[in-house]
Amino acid sequence: MTDRRLRIAVQKSGRLADRSAELISGAGLRILKGANELLYRIENQPIDLLRVRDDDIPTFVADGVAELGIVGYNVLAEHFPDRDLEEMIVQRLGFGSCTLKVAVPNDVDYAGPKWLEGKRIATSYPNILGKWLKDNGVTAEIVEMRGAVEVAPRMKIAHAICDLVSTGATLEANGMKATDLVLKSEAVLIKAPHAPPSELAHTYDMLLRRFDGVTASTGAKYVMMNAPKTHLDEIIRMIPGADAPTIMQLAGREDTVAVHAVCQENVFWDTLDKLKAAGASAILVLPIEKMMKGGEEPLKNNADLCLEKSERRRTQGSPGPAGKPPRCARGRDRAHHL
Ligand code: ATP
Ligand code: MG
Repeated sequence: MTDRRLRIAVQKSGRLADRSAELISGAGLRILKGANELLYRIENQPIDLLRVRDDDIPTFVADGVAELGIVGYNVLAEHFPDRDLEEMIVQRLGFGSCTLKVAVPNDVDYAGPKWLEGKRIATSYPNILGKWLKDNGVTAEIVEMRGAVEVAPRMKIAHAICDLVSTGATLEANGMKATDLVLKSEAVLIKAPHAPPSELAHTYDMLLRRFDGVTASTGAKYVMMNAPKTHLDEIIRMIPGADAPTIMQLAGREDTVAVHAVCQENVFWDTLDKLKAAGASAILVLPIEKMMKGGEEPLKNNADLCLEKSERRRTQGSPGPAGKPPRCARGRDRAHHL
């Protein structure tokens, strides 16, 4: 027996906190909220959550205080301007997306980075901004601020700012407009430089596999439709992010096949309209709850098993499957049906 437990450093509260907790729960970990606010236990695995400010996560993970951490790429890049970040990053998590942008007052006639030459720029990201200015051959003074960066031009502290932007509403409210993109960011899973203790290696590997599965299934859809053979190639090309769709002959319909595919991205109404216009019918889009990817194999999930079942039913004379979802893919979730 061992008392050693893995640690995952997560943001205690803030923009990444809820989605980090969702990812952890999605991986089957039951979070036990205890009296200790800094450390939450995972009830069903030898894992603890180290709940800290996001600024502390890169250091905790790099120093091995936590084996894994969930943090914004922007915070990581600012923290370690000279490191190879790809060595630390296990995977991109697909949430917490934002951009670091230069912004100037609305009345500025901004014609590119050269406008910033000799000016003062307020930011909480001096390292990232410094690199970007250097790459663009601009010399400017960086004024480091911890927060409320957007008020700097009004307060005459700076001529421009470099800050995180998602909708642009904050900039607008402060009479500013975004100009250049400095960095694109999203939450990333990072790992400590050293391997986990050998007795926890199994838990660690399982965790990474499950995180990968949760991320892959977020936003992914299972799409089914009937398609005329004459337009099959065209229809397959229209299915967004589909990897190796399954094609099955429909019973008693020589000219039509059923197409089933796992789409790695959302499927919009626009796409459904186009599929329909190309001749597809009985189109179903279903959410995917879990997905386990394996090696170089095309994605397979429980629906493939259903297809095998439906293929057996077909050969026994029952109707084709695309008109209605296979039983194991159906369930409570809502499906779009055209
Ligand atoms: P902490 O108290 O943990 O230090 P914080 O105030 O520094 O929190 P938050 O505002 O909670 O940070 O943002 C955490 C991360 O969320 C950011 O570093 C960024 O990666 C991401 N993020 C996503 N959208 C935005 C946005 N519109 N503005 C700021 N950060 C965003
Ligand atoms: Mg912070």
